[in-house]
Amino acid sequence: MFYANLTHEWLGPAIFVSAAGGFLLLYLHDRTQVAALRLGMAYLCSLIGFLAIMLAQGDLRPSNQAAILFSVVGGKLFLVWGVTSLVGVPFPKRVFGLLTASLAGLVVYVNLSDAPFMNRFLVVNGYAATVNLMCGVLVWRARTQRVDIVVAALLFFQTFMLVNRILFMHVSSTDFSTLSAFRRSEFASSMQTENAMFAIAIGLALYARYSVTLMTQLKRLAETDPLTGLLNRRAFEARVKELRAISATRSTGLIICDIDHFKLINDRHGHDAGDRALVAFAHLLERETPESAICTRLGGEEFCILLAAVDDGAIRLQATHLRAAVERLRITTPEAELRLTASFGCCRLTPEGELSTAMARADAAVYQAKNDGRNLVRSAADPGASVPRLLSA
Ligand code: GH3
Ligand code: MG
Ligand code: MG
Repeated sequence: MFYANLTHEWLGPAIFVSAAGGFLLLYLHDRTQVAALRLGMAYLCSLIGFLAIMLAQGDLRPSNQAAILFSVVGGKLFLVWGVTSLVGVPFPKRVFGLLTASLAGLVVYVNLSDAPFMNRFLVVNGYAATVNLMCGVLVWRARTQRVDIVVAALLFFQTFMLVNRILFMHVSSTDFSTLSAFRRSEFASSMQTENAMFAIAIGLALYARYSVTLMTQLKRLAETDPLTGLLNRRAFEARVKELRAISATRSTGLIICDIDHFKLINDRHGHDAGDRALVAFAHLLERETPESAICTRLGGEEFCILLAAVDDGAIRLQATHLRAAVERLRITTPEAELRLTASFGCCRLTPEGELSTAMARADAAVYQAKNDGRNLVRSAADPGASVPRLLSA
């Protein structure tokens, strides 16, 4: 019966292959996930170095040394590239270039001076430790999620352990003059185990970071209107519920607005110009309302704004301000400069009131503004504005 005679040495390559496979499969599933491709490549490159040391017979031949250097520089390049794209910061070209150039210079120096294995080992590990530290600093500075702290902490911890090993080799009396002597030492097997442990821990932390990124992207896609970037109706209702729960004793204000004769914009200037107008209108709503306001696109050219902790006067003032701002808006398209007006309906929502009822009342006020000539603000409290649109049509 056949079975593979595996020593603990094989754990390292198995971990590198699994981590690379996980990230590369993610990339193959969705080719836009370039961070996954880079992280997968980082693990693949590291695997080459791991195998080059593991399978070397006697001392390192130049081809093994070249493979190790290639894998360390390649692995670190892809690690920094993957991590920076994952946390959304630019690749630090200058610092990375400087570190790699220093490594090249030192490698040439130790080889020309025929230095013992230990010196070559220290140069490569010093480089790995510095790049890891840089990666940790980048993640720490760009941290937006709790998992970023874990990724940065693991990178700092690995840097600390690497520096610790470099110092130990300096003070130890163990013979590290050749690779064979190094491999016989307990130090070497403990270092291999340590590398494998960090490969798992950092790989899983990066995978968790990736999941958080993907979940955040999916949540944003599910919550926003793709054209204008405003919240969609479902997310709007959820946010309104949260806001009303926080300010339970205060009334909120509801404003619904509908662009006037929008169909004419599409008919005269084309659908793309219409889209551009919708985006400009949405940006105006966000710009001209307080930070605490929640804006949504209800559909087509109809929008809704919820104002926190306001009375009737403040709601009307905000709607009037928006109406005037829309009138001043200029939208530049390749063919023409577009101007818009919109009709506004507003309504106060008491703490015990139903959102759907308030929306129906604000909608009826919009209808009233349209009937009265458009480019107007009407309140649900105004006479004649309280009949829902469907009933009055
Ligand atoms: P009113 O003043 O009575 O509101 O007239 P209106 O033309 O604005 O209203 P109507 O409901 O007749 O037309 C709305 C138009 O909005 C029709 C539709 O083609 C257009 N529309 C809806 N969604 C979009 C969109 O996403 N992009 C573009 N470009 N147009 C849209
Ligand atoms: Mg309209
Ligand atoms: Mg409409």
